[in-house]
Amino acid sequence: MIECQSAPPETTSPACWRSSFSALGEAFFVPLAPTPIGQACWVGRNPALARELGWTDFEENAQEWLQVLSGNQLMPGMAPLASVYSGHQFGVWAGQLGDGRAILLGETSGQEIQLKGAGLTPFSRMGDGRAVLRSSIREFLCSEAMQGLGIPTSRALCVTGSDLPVRRETMETAAVVTRVAPSFIRFGHFEHFSHHGQHTQLRELADYVIERFFPSCRVDQALGGNAYASLLQAVAVRTAQTVAMWQAVGFCHGVMNTDNMSILGLTLDYGPFQFLDAYDPGHICNHSDHRGRYAFQQQPHVAYWNLHCLGQAMLPLIPDQTLAIKALEAFKPGFAAAYANRMAAKLGFAQADADSSRRCDELLRLLGGDRVDYTIFWRRLSRWCRNADRNDASVRELFTDRTGIDLWLLQFSERITQYPRTHSCELMLNTNPKFVLRNHVGELAIQAARTQDYSLVSTLLTVLHSPYDEHPGCEAYADFPPDWAGSIAISCSS
Ligand code: AMP
Ligand code: MG
Repeated sequence: MIECQSAPPETTSPACWRSSFSALGEAFFVPLAPTPIGQACWVGRNPALARELGWTDFEENAQEWLQVLSGNQLMPGMAPLASVYSGHQFGVWAGQLGDGRAILLGETSGQEIQLKGAGLTPFSRMGDGRAVLRSSIREFLCSEAMQGLGIPTSRALCVTGSDLPVRRETMETAAVVTRVAPSFIRFGHFEHFSHHGQHTQLRELADYVIERFFPSCRVDQALGGNAYASLLQAVAVRTAQTVAMWQAVGFCHGVMNTDNMSILGLTLDYGPFQFLDAYDPGHICNHSDHRGRYAFQQQPHVAYWNLHCLGQAMLPLIPDQTLAIKALEAFKPGFAAAYANRMAAKLGFAQADADSSRRCDELLRLLGGDRVDYTIFWRRLSRWCRNADRNDASVRELFTDRTGIDLWLLQFSERITQYPRTHSCELMLNTNPKFVLRNHVGELAIQAARTQDYSLVSTLLTVLHSPYDEHPGCEAYADFPPDWAGSIAISCSS
């Protein structure tokens, strides 16, 4: 057990922090404490998540929690650790990676509590173990934006800031994000033990994941009764469902390396992500991604490729390779169904069919042709549907090709009349968000935070927690990006 570095804070936090992951044993991690960051301040807080965790004193004992969640102090019972994993980065085997700046503090209410940017670990390689303020604010807000959108994700409890200088392209300051998820296990954890021929540990890892998160794989007889093939299939389906949601909402992850792929199908490791402004299927949000490997429209293919890396890693556990291939094949129908259903809902249709898919393809072609703002289009279409005469020009004025969209809208209104108007309209307004975390909006919050004004971080958290609501007074955050948004360059540097 790690010693506390100073007197424990007086909080009513969980008495036992022991993570179930730590029971796997020391082949899987290195025990170590966060490196104190010095004087810290709150940048963003998510009391709603604290309540979900049962941390009733999060507000009351804010000063004590600030020390713990910036890595300055441990609570009694915490046994922090950094885990080892490997992975493929940009399609190439990258060898050992691991938690180079993330430290797991422990587990409460079935959720792991992890500090990102908490100092050096044995897996830091050339890095400094820290995370900068701008990327920490982006991760904090985007995690909760995804949660608000109903997309599987790791959560974010808070961001703390500091004066500690860190060097990236320029000098910046260090911050810490507290991330929360049932597990931070990645495809790369499996790849690590498989690559090193540590098949006992590989099996222990798979057994842990099955027991804790996929118990039905033990009794699934579909893939020769092999629980590991069944796990692979379950992960393929979950990944397909999450990526389908990304595609439907216009989310570009930016760095889908296998070490950033959650075994639970959560959106994980927010770095150079972006919600599309103009619809462009080839959009590349990561300025370090010179070849567009992780371009928006590539994401489903990359997810499938990444699943093959996981499948390859799990082969020592699956006696017959054809079972693994069959398991992975579940990705394709899983993705197709999830995507079709989500796009049909965006169109206000009760269910997906060949007609909804055809209309959707045609629409995306029109949106791409005119580089129409993706989020604004869908929200305007939802409101347009509510108008009795459907006479307003708010949708068609988004297009240069007015003939194309007029024809599409005409055919669409014929189809949509099959459903009760209020039903379709409600469905659309609850599927097409008014608010997503656009790059320039995040940038405004970051710039204000650099002057110690954290009010926009807090406002955006509220708005993004319920992105389908109107939030009067916050229209500016749902508007078109300003010209300067085009010059924001987000790279892997964080
Ligand atoms: P990422 O691209 O952020 O997912 O990081 C890839 C790998 O590099 C992971 O093993 C990270 O822990 C590690 N890493 C990224 N940034 C740093 C840093 N500043 N210090 C130490 N390790 C880092
Ligand atoms: Mg990562």
